[in-house]
Amino acid sequence: MSASAIREILKITQQPDIISFAGGLPAPELFPVEDVRRATDNVLTKYGPAALQYSTTEGHPPLRQWIGSRAGIPAANVQIVTGSQQALDLLGKILISEGDTVLVEAPTYLGALQSFQPYGPNYVQMPTDDGGIDLDALEKILKTTPAKLLYAVPNFQNPTGRTLNAERRRRLVELTGQYGVLVIEDDPYGQLRFTGEAAPSLYELGLEYAGDVDSSHIIYCSSFSKTLVPGLRDAWVQAAAPIISKLVQAKQGADLHTPTLNQMIVTELLDDVLPRQIETVKKAYGERAGIMLGHIKQQFPGGVEYTTPEGGMFLWVTLPQGLDSTQMLVRALTRNVAYVPGSPFFALGGGENTLRLSYSSATPEQIETGIKALGETIREAMD
Ligand code: PMP
Repeated sequence: MSASAIREILKITQQPDIISFAGGLPAPELFPVEDVRRATDNVLTKYGPAALQYSTTEGHPPLRQWIGSRAGIPAANVQIVTGSQQALDLLGKILISEGDTVLVEAPTYLGALQSFQPYGPNYVQMPTDDGGIDLDALEKILKTTPAKLLYAVPNFQNPTGRTLNAERRRRLVELTGQYGVLVIEDDPYGQLRFTGEAAPSLYELGLEYAGDVDSSHIIYCSSFSKTLVPGLRDAWVQAAAPIISKLVQAKQGADLHTPTLNQMIVTELLDDVLPRQIETVKKAYGERAGIMLGHIKQQFPGGVEYTTPEGGMFLWVTLPQGLDSTQMLVRALTRNVAYVPGSPFFALGGGENTLRLSYSSATPEQIETGIKALGETIREAMD
């Protein structure tokens, strides 16, 4: 494990005069504080001390039931976890032996690399484009490299904001099925689509491919962090029974169970607050993404490319070859604007000319000022 130099630089971005597109936090002003207060009260009245007692490792039964019925699978195939970040760590623990080949998108979610790293994977990067993973490239890799695991964020990926298109999803499920590769589908943002048509999840396609829930080679992770609130740390995994039973063992060693009270609070909010909250968040992020893209179009010089996300919290900028976004960050900070340089999101390096922008928690004024400052920074770096 190694501390990241960029994390140190980004500490500066917490100063109040800096407009930060770096953090990637859900918008706090949208959190349903009063609903959580009411739900907490209801839970304590309804369950009393049981809400504060140890509980089962698998999770609060009504919460597992709700997730299972929405996915059309038995509750037994649902494991509650303490944030989907814990799912990634536990899946690394039970699935990755030192030297196992793990296929990751280039770029991929940095937190997954951090979770898997201690278990000693041998990463192979899958090239990506605007439609997500390049499936021809993946097929070539699979023909020559025996891989254990493939990790992907198919919806509004962190960091790029890109989505894996429907046709590629089918082919990915078939190819990994044929080659015996397990797939971790990490989907914290799927519910936050603000434009375009949803594609079926790899998990749904995996059920069709396998024909039954306990033979599926797709492991699905999602979370209430981006749809409801991140601080309750409630998330889940959907997987075949043999995977769930290993996860239960691994989780017992990690934290015994996800906090009982938090699971009960989330359960209390599922039917009325969650759907309303998803609509509120989608609308806000859709507006913020639109505003950011509008200013980017006006302010960024020619030769700079960027993604147009259909949901989620991020977009991805590619500067002309030869520019280094890590070096440029120092100049950006002098203009009071921050972003995350792209290279740490590449398991095997590369992407020095890329960067991630988050629009989820910025006001329209901050977006306007910040993108203008970033445009000037890029222009200066290009001169
Ligand atoms: N996966 C991805 C792709 C993410 O972006 C995040 C949050 N940054 C997580 C997992 C972890 O989310 P949580 O632990 O809050 O569920």
